[in-house]
Amino acid sequence: MDKLDCNKEIIQLMHIYLDGDISMDDEAKLRKHLEDCSDCQKYFHELKRTITLVKSVEQVEALPTLLKR
Ligand SMILES: [Zn+2]
Repeated sequence: MDKLDCNKEIIQLMHIYLDGDISMDDEAKLRKHLEDCSDCQKYFHELKRTITLVKSVEQVEALPTLLKR
């Protein structure tokens, strides 16, 4: 299998997964692939960390807005 195609498809699945919109079939496919592919595993961990970081920043910035009301 072409490495680039692998990454492209799996990365798309990662984004769907992190959005929480993934189907059970796609999630199983993603998990199975991550077990075999260390490149995608590494990318997934970085993506997850970035998204968690963005979410915590959003939460901190939402607070002052709430307090102003
Ligand atoms: Zn892969």
